[in-house]
Amino acid sequence: MSRRCVFLDRDGVINEKAAPHEYIRQWSEFRFLPNVSDWIRIFNALDYLVIVITNQRGIARGKMTRQAVDEIHRRMIEELDEHGARVDDVFLCPHEEGTCDCRKPKPGMLLQAQAKWDIDFSASLLIGDSDEDEAVASACGVRFLRVRDGRII
Ligand SMILES: [Mg+2]
Ligand SMILES: [Zn+2]
Repeated sequence: MSRRCVFLDRDGVINEKAAPHEYIRQWSEFRFLPNVSDWIRIFNALDYLVIVITNQRGIARGKMTRQAVDEIHRRMIEELDEHGARVDDVFLCPHEEGTCDCRKPKPGMLLQAQAKWDIDFSASLLIGDSDEDEAVASACGVRFLRVRDGRII
């Protein structure tokens, strides 16, 4: 049976955004927003998959390596796990705008996740902080909630 999923954008949803035109390049720059592990624990308890989908074109621009970003996600998952919160998977787009089919608002990452995890989009939710997040949710028929500064607006 298809699973329900809460898709989470990363920057601005799980962690504080970098300054404009900057990137989170290493774990020491990663700051969790308040209460994120509590929210994820609720989604876990309701038996939703929890999957992070994040645009990281700083990799294409040479601002940080794919290896460094993978390490950030390993540490992020580890720290959430220490707080009892389970993230099932992370999908990232390392590409520059207009060069791929996975950079949000393109649906590639959601479609990859759906194929891997057998997700029912119509029973799923995406939480994000940008117009790109809202657009990809709309394109896939996934409900959308917008957050700003760690709060749903
Ligand atoms: Mg964001
Ligand atoms: Zn991409």
